[in-house]
Amino acid sequence: MKTVPDFWFEPRPWLDGQWFHPSPSETFTVSNPATCAHLADVIRADAATVQRAIEGVVKAQKSWRETPAATRGEILKRTAVLLIERKDAFARLLSAEQGKPYAQAAGEVDYAASFFQWFGEEARRVSGRLAPHPAPGREFFVETKPAGVAGLITPWNFPLAQGAKKVAASLAAGCTAIWKPAELTPLIALATAPLLAEAGLPPGVLQIVPGSGSVVGGVLAEHPAVRVLSLTGSTATGSALMSRAAGGIKRLSFELGGNAPFIVLPDADLDFAADELVHVKLLCSGQVCVTANRVFIHADVEAAFTEKVASRLAAAQVGNGLADGVDAGPLIHRKACEEVGALVTRAQTDGARIVCENRSFERDPSLREGSFAPLTLVTGVRDEMPLARDEVFGPVISLLSYATVADAVRRANETPYGLAAYVYGRDLSLCRAVASGLEVGIVGVNEWRPLKAEIPFGGVKMSGLGSEGGVEGIREFLDTQVISMPKP
Ligand code: ADP
Repeated sequence: MKTVPDFWFEPRPWLDGQWFHPSPSETFTVSNPATCAHLADVIRADAATVQRAIEGVVKAQKSWRETPAATRGEILKRTAVLLIERKDAFARLLSAEQGKPYAQAAGEVDYAASFFQWFGEEARRVSGRLAPHPAPGREFFVETKPAGVAGLITPWNFPLAQGAKKVAASLAAGCTAIWKPAELTPLIALATAPLLAEAGLPPGVLQIVPGSGSVVGGVLAEHPAVRVLSLTGSTATGSALMSRAAGGIKRLSFELGGNAPFIVLPDADLDFAADELVHVKLLCSGQVCVTANRVFIHADVEAAFTEKVASRLAAAQVGNGLADGVDAGPLIHRKACEEVGALVTRAQTDGARIVCENRSFERDPSLREGSFAPLTLVTGVRDEMPLARDEVFGPVISLLSYATVADAVRRANETPYGLAAYVYGRDLSLCRAVASGLEVGIVGVNEWRPLKAEIPFGGVKMSGLGSEGGVEGIREFLDTQVISMPKP
């Protein structure tokens, strides 16, 4: 069993390079979802604290945007190095606060570091261009400039990586930023503050304000100095934030909900597809916007595939993320378990069948207070069932049978979401055609984890706006200015 590390940070807002002591102050409790063990009482940022944080980043804006891009990039790359050096402590804290298994948490630290590395490199590749002018004797300068102050709002499922993507891209662009982590997982965000300072980030360039979505998010959405809002969260939150930001005509970069299809083509290697499906589903216990929500399986191979998935799911170990040999952790809270359970029960009532239900967490008495949901395989799921229509944030694999590939693609697209999809098959031409026909931002062909720092990731339809990662990710935080001039 691994232990929760001693804190190298304080559970309170980080403003202007220091821990901030608001007075009076209110706290909220953070606990381990596997055991309910108390981890910290965190001082909540109220509206006045957020206001103060914004004033700080506004002040820091001029010197940060004038800092050479190469220097900004060096600070981010040093952050990546420090994160990797302290991977074990970060992974233990992340596992304790979020619940995910230690190995997955360590993977998230690597993933987060890859964004500091990538945007550290990209910082100095931001450049403008000269464009030809239609009138003689004139020319255009097309310049890119930091957009100003960015508000970064992150969720609890990947509390380090989602923050890293936004912090690294915005600071690389020359923006100053305010990061509001989710209330359920603020510790890992606060833990990065001393690391960034050690890497050389000047005070006031990034403020971290733990607090509620409506208060902190609301001030960020409505304050005129905040020019970009970058959110990863549910579609409902995106819509609410968009309404609040409408009056200020802000730039929005939103990564929202999904309902990813996982299409197993008739010629797929079923063992490989089953392995990968279980991997994708065990990641953060299925509490992932790109998790496989609907598994489309050809009727001819459905029975064989069901058996393969069931045996893999039954063999997994569900438990405390800090314990050795655990494949899946708890859900984030009890309410999440109830919601997922209700969707499964409703599907059963409507005719679906539970084929496997792994409750291995019940063997450990120390987990009685934890928020665990069984790993569940459901067959006979139909398109109209809420289990297929809704984004299921839990470890449930829903199998939907299809007769023709064209039918599977059509049904896969019948959702207001468009984030990710997975296609498994041996005929790569067919895989490519199927992938092209899917209305989503990213498709993994024979790959369950296609998201990387090198490529843009973002949804279409109700799954979001804009991109994170790639050369595109930094553009979310840049404005374009054109100067039309006579040639000297
Ligand atoms: P999830 O469903 O993954 O919990 P949410 O969309 O509820 O995601 O939360 C994602 C982030 O958005 C969190 O940091 C949360 O505090 C914040 N948030 C929630 N509601 C609002 C809101 N109305 N305005 C701004 N931010 C919000």
